[in-house]
Amino acid sequence: MRVHILSVGNELLIGDTVNTNASRMGRWLTQAGLTCARVVTVGDEYDALTDALDAAFRQADAVLLTGGLGPTHDDITKSVLCGYFGVELVRHEPTLVAVRRMFERRGLAFPPSNFAQADLPANAEVLPNPLGTAPGLWFEHQGKPLAVMPGVPREMAHLMEHEVMPRLVARAGGRAYRDRYYQVVGIGESTLSDWVIGPVDDLLQPGLTMAFLPHTEGITLRISSVADTPARAEAALQPLATRISTKAAAYIFASDAHTRLETAVVALLTEAGRTLATAESCTGGWISNLVTNVPGSSAVFLGGVAAYANAAKTDLLDVPADLIAAHGAVSKEVAIAMAAGAARRFGADYALSTTGIAGPGGGSADKPVGLVWIGFHGPLGTFAVEARFFKERLVNKEKAALTALDILRRQVLGIPGMPYDLQPEYP
Ligand code: ATP
Repeated sequence: MRVHILSVGNELLIGDTVNTNASRMGRWLTQAGLTCARVVTVGDEYDALTDALDAAFRQADAVLLTGGLGPTHDDITKSVLCGYFGVELVRHEPTLVAVRRMFERRGLAFPPSNFAQADLPANAEVLPNPLGTAPGLWFEHQGKPLAVMPGVPREMAHLMEHEVMPRLVARAGGRAYRDRYYQVVGIGESTLSDWVIGPVDDLLQPGLTMAFLPHTEGITLRISSVADTPARAEAALQPLATRISTKAAAYIFASDAHTRLETAVVALLTEAGRTLATAESCTGGWISNLVTNVPGSSAVFLGGVAAYANAAKTDLLDVPADLIAAHGAVSKEVAIAMAAGAARRFGADYALSTTGIAGPGGGSADKPVGLVWIGFHGPLGTFAVEARFFKERLVNKEKAALTALDILRRQVLGIPGMPYDLQPEYP
């Protein structure tokens, strides 16, 4: 069943309101195994809404509409529906009783415009809305259903859950949806797709989809499957899930939709009974902030130093002043000395350090903006990697912090190689 969503309201077009209704409805439909094929947003305008309805009925198997049902002059959805179906508004007494009762219960006077909430298109089936004054409406037109709901998100959600989805699901027949999410870090989208996972055409049968969703922290990979039974949907997913989790194992830090890298790293350290300290120059405490955002991090995180000035690196982390003079603060040697100094000072098993040019100023030909040395100290040794990020200061800080955590993740798990194929350089 291909479903179109019509979102109605000038506030959506001018950017006052984010169209969260459409995304929630899309999720509902998808999880029921139905296809959300299109979302169309129109303003509170008679002709635009009529055209959108017409197109939706031509192209979709079912139409969902939210917004513009209220009693004020800018709410025109009901009059458009009457014009479209060639019917009149008629008073629906049970709705009037319900709306009156709603005001009475709260001890409020009944504003006359609320009579209009009970005037509904004559061909509508009324879907009760206990959370608001505008009921939902259900129409049948050319053998296709149209569900109309208020724009208020909680009212829409109530009607979707209790009235609309059960009807759509019954109508579509049994459809089952299954998905798997993977959180991936330390690799670009195209490298992951072209070289690590490789072609999957042999596995992508109808009903099976795969999506790469890149964001600052990494990539969320989603595979999903729709079939006529849950068992078939699950079975269709399995070969692709196995291919991904085998080929991309080194890059996957969670097999769900929400786990963050720092959460996964704290869990790994906890399980291994190992501790961490940080020595951060260009990231200024970003790594320790991420780690301490995780509940329970006190079991593994001993502390960190935001060692910005050269003197702080020397005084707090024992980085020799002549080392800084010889190689510069942004160097492999200093990154390694910072990590080793933090591990020693805090008595930690692992330490991460960063020193780099966050930008926008301060770059040179051999040390450009975006250059960050990330130092690592662990039970098996000490090294640093040279990473080159971007021109934006905050992006560089975040990327450097995440890459450092990913290096740690790989070391704790014994995964060979570095994120982004960076090369470790030893003292
Ligand atoms: P009611 O009669 O209960 O007022 P309505 O159908 O008239 O409902 P609208 O006036 O269109 O609803 O919108 C009511 C509120 O819901 C507004 O604050 C609006 O910003 C919000 N809203 C409307 N459409 C959406 C949407 N698609 N996503 C998120 N919020 C929305």
